[in-house]
Amino acid sequence: MNTYVRMTEGRKDPDCIFCKIVAGDVPAEFVDESPGAVAFKDINPQAPVHLLVIPREHYGDVSELAATNPQLMAEMVDLAAQVAGDLADGQFRLIFNSGPRAGQSVYHVHGHVLAGADLGWTPA
Ligand code: 5GP
Ligand code: ZN
Repeated sequence: MNTYVRMTEGRKDPDCIFCKIVAGDVPAEFVDESPGAVAFKDINPQAPVHLLVIPREHYGDVSELAATNPQLMAEMVDLAAQVAGDLADGQFRLIFNSGPRAGQSVYHVHGHVLAGADLGWTPA
């Protein structure tokens, strides 16, 4: 168990890998947290700093989160800015892949926080 693990009420998917990370059932390298969200290192980093910011509760994608809980969405953006400032120079790219053609592979909303380099732009 680590300090980032906390019981969450409500929205959970027992088959979701990110719900398992939030619960502490799957290990992850946490770097920061807020009341409703956590930030941890992506297992397959694409930049010097590549973190995932996720809500503790389960929302399938960014549209569902923004429609259901816009305040939590704003909290995730704040957490992304915080970790980009702590681990890089405060400049960052925040990506929410939405749907398989956009590259979404985990259906628990997550913002990719990329920082620490001059980032290129070759999405397709
Ligand atoms: P997506 O493709 O859905 O936008 O992003 C999913 C991200 O989650 C990928 O960048 C992938 O490397 C990361 N990921 C998948 N499984 C795990 C895991 O178990 N632990 C961590 N830390 N990252 C994971
Ligand atoms: Zn989940």
